[in-house]
Amino acid sequence: MIVNPRIRGFICTTAHPTGCQAAVNEQINYVKGELQHNPENTPAGAGIKNVLVLGCSGGYGLASRVVAAFGCGANSLGVSFEKAPTTKKTASAGWYNNIAFETAAQSEGLYAKTLDGDAFSDAMRARVVQTIQAEMGSIDLVVYSLASPVRQHPKTGVLHRSAIKPLGEALDIKSVNVDRGEVVEVSLEPATPQETADTVAVMGGEDWELWMDALLDAQVLAPGCRTMAFTYIGTQLTWPIYWEGTLGQAKLDLDRASLAISEKLAVLGGSARVAVLKAIVSQASSAIPVVPLYVALLFKVMKEQGNHENIISHIYRLFATQLQSEANLRLDADGRIRMDNVELSDEVQQAVLDRWPRVTTENLAELGDLAGYREDFLKIFGFGLADVDYAIDVDPTLGRDL
Ligand code: NAD
Repeated sequence: MIVNPRIRGFICTTAHPTGCQAAVNEQINYVKGELQHNPENTPAGAGIKNVLVLGCSGGYGLASRVVAAFGCGANSLGVSFEKAPTTKKTASAGWYNNIAFETAAQSEGLYAKTLDGDAFSDAMRARVVQTIQAEMGSIDLVVYSLASPVRQHPKTGVLHRSAIKPLGEALDIKSVNVDRGEVVEVSLEPATPQETADTVAVMGGEDWELWMDALLDAQVLAPGCRTMAFTYIGTQLTWPIYWEGTLGQAKLDLDRASLAISEKLAVLGGSARVAVLKAIVSQASSAIPVVPLYVALLFKVMKEQGNHENIISHIYRLFATQLQSEANLRLDADGRIRMDNVELSDEVQQAVLDRWPRVTTENLAELGDLAGYREDFLKIFGFGLADVDYAIDVDPTLGRDL
């Protein structure tokens, strides 16, 4: 089959098996290059031997797994929810990413296994516990990187759907139609209290707590075990739709959960932290109105200033600087690890703020980096990689016996 991108709004319904493999290998090669060329600043001494990554198949979760494995030499168990391929349809990108990651890690003698299914379910928690007991022993780092629009609650069976909306009042705000390259005004209705509660149920901290409770109860966490979940705070440009909206409420709940989990991990001498990461292009972030326009301006500014970070370089910096010793943590007043310091620097933000009111469809290419945004978006699905020949027939059923 010849696989081409088929984009519907903010998702691409196809994924390229060889392209996904090349994208994963690009991340692995980045890590290996850093270890070689910058040996005084690596995550190798972070003491991470066995990692569990929830949401391992894309975005920040995949990058964390790559850095843990290839930067720290860690064995890894991953969990993600994938669409399997058929003879006529490609799988989700994460399906191919997981295969590519496992193949690369195993070829270097690292244990790497991925469980495919709903991470919000108790059944998946039981599978993970069994796998750790049978094959890994114990875990010293749990990365919680799930991003989902829905969650079926494991106790009540209720299907919660998140809503990405402002709170209080309707919001008229600039955004971009990425497909057409048009700067547009969008009008977003405020969330109802039920929509806000549902968003907290999906993206808040309860599920992270359930995971850590299950792992603690099963005694599969190593002494000193750490856990991290990821958040975004951003700036005044995105606050109305993110931090001050439904998603912000969910992320505040993640902060609450972080404290609760830390208390429970104290018996092991362990800790939980929320890490504030920079804005990047991911399946999850492309679904948030306003964010793609902000990201396009941000990328242009950061690339011009020479301080741009992509997913893998950002996570590498997180592991290399924030997981080595408690003494080096860059924490804010709420105990979060701040990795968004470069994005939020005055230098960067002044330039983005200056462009925001001026940006139009006509000058978008000059003020923003929509091309870079689109490139990163396509790469999520394995498209646009330099060394991949997209004219060659590929087998979409890779990894599945049909
Ligand atoms: P992503 O969409 O790239 O990845 C999400 C992962 O979750 C995938 O592996 C997916 O398979 C998995 N997943 C979703 N639902 C699942 C389910 N029910 N069961 C099992 N796996 C499931 O997302 P991302 O952008 O990397 O986001 C990860 C975290 O990072 C989120 O908490 C997000 O808020 C945070 N974050 C993202 C950004 C950004 O700009 N993208 C910035 C800061 C923080």
